[in-house]
Amino acid sequence: MRGLRLEIDLDKIGDNARELVRRTSQRHISVTAVTKAFLGCPEIARVICSAGVVSLGDSRIENLERMRSARIEAPLLLLRSPMPSQIDRIVRADAMSVNTEIDVLSALASAARSSGRVHDVLIMVELGDLREGVMPDQLHDTVRHVLGLSALRFRGVGANLACRNGIEPSEENMAELSAMVASVETTFGIAVEIVSGGNSANLDWALSSSDPGRINNLRIGESVLLGREPLHRRPIEGLHPDAFTLVGEVIESKRKPTKPWGRTGQNSFGETPRTDDRGVIWQTILAIGRQDTDTADLAAPEGVEILAASSDHLIAETADRMSCGDEIRFEPGYSALLRSMTSPFVTQHCVGSGTLQIGAPRRACTLG
Ligand SMILES: *Cc1c(COP(=O)(O)O)cnc(C)c1O
Repeated sequence: MRGLRLEIDLDKIGDNARELVRRTSQRHISVTAVTKAFLGCPEIARVICSAGVVSLGDSRIENLERMRSARIEAPLLLLRSPMPSQIDRIVRADAMSVNTEIDVLSALASAARSSGRVHDVLIMVELGDLREGVMPDQLHDTVRHVLGLSALRFRGVGANLACRNGIEPSEENMAELSAMVASVETTFGIAVEIVSGGNSANLDWALSSSDPGRINNLRIGESVLLGREPLHRRPIEGLHPDAFTLVGEVIESKRKPTKPWGRTGQNSFGETPRTDDRGVIWQTILAIGRQDTDTADLAAPEGVEILAASSDHLIAETADRMSCGDEIRFEPGYSALLRSMTSPFVTQHCVGSGTLQIGAPRRACTLG
């Protein structure tokens, strides 16, 4: 396999998922694996399912449908409040959805009723990061609305932190969520089955808290895929940080000065780069660009330094001249991973059997 590609090590992803399931289960917390960074690719989803997660979550209905049509049977969760234009698809996908809006809940109920189904919902509550969620004082009214709609089944509550403002999950805000759950239970005389406390940013809290309270589920994407926690982007001990590798190809390598010459205006992205004069270097160009990935979120190997990137050219300094066709392997961060999984120009190449069997033959599956 050659050319611009994302190598995906299924064994490492499987190990990461299994290890996170093991650690969180000791706190009686289940894992919903989040599939959006890999667009619901069925090969990856299957490996993660066999690691013991309770469900798969994605923010996009297209990805959930992709997994359903690949005959993935795991329970599915739509992680983003439904688009009104997609209500029918969401009810048909046989997925639970997260919700925050009364009108959307009513529309889900009528779509479910007319197709003879019952649609499961989680209600998201705001805990301070100011992304999605009903304000805490609106939770009871929202739950009451759901309980009044027979085509909806109230399954529990959820919260999301860190994604917008970097607000950290803490003993305080998680205890606040637990208290809200208890109050819903006493007010309505029901048991709240699922309490989904957050995303990968909750792992530090979940694994170190003296009492996780009522939180019994987390929705984990980045930590399964990249083996690190997202609040400080620290590697999680015992997990693989390198399950994904972006491999690019050299198309030019020349001795060039570091200082451009001529009059300076804006570059193709509206930036006016300032370049120090560091003398003459080996300037190597790879056929990778901003159309393929987030070039600012790639970690280069030893001896390679990324200097700049335009739509289609990644400019690096290399220790020596490289030959055209030589390959350089980069480690993508979350943003680079999202973008390269979504680019039609990047081939996805799975390696590994997806099982822990040592010495098993490594199967290659080309998806792109
Ligand atoms: C993306 C997303 C997640 C997963 O986030 P990670 O940081 O990748 O673990 C969890 N919950 C919701 C609502 C999301 O949108």
